[in-house]
Amino acid sequence: MPIRILIVEDNEKNRKLLRDLLTYHGYEIVEAENGAAGVQSAREQRPDLVLMDIQMPVLDGFGALKLLREQEATRAIKVIALTSFAMVGDQERIIQAGFDGYISKPLDTRALPLIVKKYLENPRGWQGPNRASPDQ
Ligand code: MN
Repeated sequence: MPIRILIVEDNEKNRKLLRDLLTYHGYEIVEAENGAAGVQSAREQRPDLVLMDIQMPVLDGFGALKLLREQEATRAIKVIALTSFAMVGDQERIIQAGFDGYISKPLDTRALPLIVKKYLENPRGWQGPNRASPDQ
């Protein structure tokens, strides 16, 4: 069965870029364009990984993460924040909120598939390439 990744991102260009890139690498992609739709999609589709934008209409990434963590069915899903360069000072807040890690935008199309693969392979709690990995 293919690995399923849910992309929650209001920016259509970013969504398409992620979809094209990750589809090329063999992942099955599900998309949502705001946090509320993303939470619903996560419940229905049970993705292996969620890539979650922070700034979105209707419900932002923090709100969506909170709902995912509150529900038994979606609590354990790995959720990676997609953070803009302007939010560099907010990385700690992102980890504090309970995201499993973050990927900085603008997206590095070469690095992204490798980062996604590492997040899928590593146990929950590994907090991204900029932080200590569990085997260190
Ligand atoms: Mn956005």
